[in-house]
Amino acid sequence: VEEFVMSDRLGPIEVYCDAPPYPIVRACQEIGFRNPEDVRWLRLRHVVDHHPWWGISPGHPWKLLLGRAKSVEKTCSCGEKLPRLCTGTFTLNTGEELTYRLGQCRRCWTVFWDEA
Ligand SMILES: [Zn+2]
Repeated sequence: VEEFVMSDRLGPIEVYCDAPPYPIVRACQEIGFRNPEDVRWLRLRHVVDHHPWWGISPGHPWKLLLGRAKSVEKTCSCGEKLPRLCTGTFTLNTGEELTYRLGQCRRCWTVFWDEA
């Protein structure tokens, strides 16, 4: 899944730990993430500092830029390469839309994320 949209399914927003709001975490289960409520979440800005590899092209906000920068090798704390990220827009029941980039380590299941 490279892009996804969640609609009318998310409740109130609460923030916890280094993870996005809980409804987002819960929604990730539905889009195929493994045990998102039980794994570690790491915000990318805490992991990767100002690296253009993780940037979103201003003219093409929906396009993934991952995969272009082959020279960059960032790794998860478990040693696995960072996962590919997908971009998703979550529509809250208030009508507000939140866009996130999300990816899960295939070895330790840590979820990497940030606001798009
Ligand atoms: Zn890992």
